[in-house]
Amino acid sequence: MPIYEFKCSKCGDLFEVMGSYAERQKEHACPKCGSTDVKQAISLFSAAPPKSF
Ligand SMILES: [Zn+2]
Repeated sequence: MPIYEFKCSKCGDLFEVMGSYAERQKEHACPKCGSTDVKQAISLFSAAPPKSF
């Protein structure tokens, strides 16, 4: 299951959303301040080197 990382533009909080591609397209609210002004950061999948190949 892919994990998407989002960064809140308001308070700068980083949070992760686990889910499908459809989940990623949804609007996510910052768990800290509740703002929906969030930007997707680099996903953990592309940031981390593959472990099992
Ligand atoms: Zn926030």
